[in-house]
Amino acid sequence: MRKSNFEPTLILGATGSVGRQALDVARCCAIPVRGVSANTNWREIERAVREFRVPAAAMADENAAKELRAALSDTNTRVFAGEAGVLDMIRESDATAAVNAIVGQAGLLPTLSVIDAGKRLALANKESLVVAGEIVMRRAKEKGVKITPVDSEHSAIYQSLRAGRHGEIKKLILTASGGPFFGMNRAQLEKITVADALAHPTWKMGAKITVDSATLMNKGFEVIEAAHLFRVPADKIEVVVHRESIIHSMVEYIDNSVIAELSVPDMRLCVQYALTAPARMDAVIPELSLTKVGKLTFLPPDEETFPLLPAARAALAAGGGVPAVLNAANEVAVAAFLAGKISLPRLFDTVLGVIADMPHAKDAHTLDEILTTDREAREHAETRL
Ligand code: NDP
Repeated sequence: MRKSNFEPTLILGATGSVGRQALDVARCCAIPVRGVSANTNWREIERAVREFRVPAAAMADENAAKELRAALSDTNTRVFAGEAGVLDMIRESDATAAVNAIVGQAGLLPTLSVIDAGKRLALANKESLVVAGEIVMRRAKEKGVKITPVDSEHSAIYQSLRAGRHGEIKKLILTASGGPFFGMNRAQLEKITVADALAHPTWKMGAKITVDSATLMNKGFEVIEAAHLFRVPADKIEVVVHRESIIHSMVEYIDNSVIAELSVPDMRLCVQYALTAPARMDAVIPELSLTKVGKLTFLPPDEETFPLLPAARAALAAGGGVPAVLNAANEVAVAAFLAGKISLPRLFDTVLGVIADMPHAKDAHTLDEILTTDREAREHAETRL
């Protein structure tokens, strides 16, 4: 193992797709892992604790925490239980950085805890910014906390922004693989099964984000995420379909220069850079061979067939708790789709219907109001399934 140049780090959501890749980066770069968390998968957390000699672990699920505590009784690792336990572990840890790779709205309070504890935040949990972007960014500014994006598109923009000043940005260009149903119409989407939706063309990800990628909801979330992270309005954020997933996103400047970041699609680079930016470390991913890629293509997204992308722009423009409604309704509808209960078009209609049900959500601004709005949206979504 090499000598570590990394800060002591927490990996939240360590058993998921991004979390496992973060552990892989920790393995390659000798990152000191000071805490890990998950929801129910205590066996995998036990393995990580033993391999990385982690002093603290938290399970959001209380029963899983009991199992983990018993399994680790021969170690000095402290086990925290419940969602409050995840927050306690963050608060009490001596780590100075955290990767938040929790999925869904469940990642919001951990994001705020990391910020309140003054730790650097490598943020994969985009839902934190979708649900409460203004609160998260304001709190980070007040606490002087650096948020570095793990999402590949935002990592690319973060890097491309080093080529100019904020006032020189003309627009951000988010690339989208287009997902497995690129080119299909609504009637074809009716027949899509869960297995079809989980077969993403380029990225291997958790089930929820794979469905979000297939519906372009993920790209809509990324527009909201980019608007908050980079202080750029939605009308200056363009989305282009780029099937090869080699250019991860771009920034166009006022002189019409377009600066891009390219690499093989591999989240380990994004995690690594989020923990070291603006410094760079030796590669953990393979080299890009442009001649093997051959050509790069770009097309406009089909916003009529995939209405959740424009719905995200509209939610951002409406402001307040409307993006939280979009996220909550989507979480419920995606779970129903994954359970085989609804089709993709029905998923779209559920989300759009809940937004129409809750025009008052735009008046939710405080954290409590937003969390109440989130609960209300989940109830509306359940009744619409
Ligand atoms: P996964 O579903 O693979 O993993 C989710 C992780 O969160 C698991 O460790 C899970 O634990 C944990 N978790 C689930 N529910 C809770 C909860 N209530 N409280 C605490 N922890 C919980 O997700 P991904 O890794 O795919 O995605 C994680 C985040 O990163 C998402 O926000 C996604 O949008 C974003 N992202 C993902 C990318 C990818 O390549 N996968 C790319 C860019 C962004 P358990 O295993 O016990 O259920």
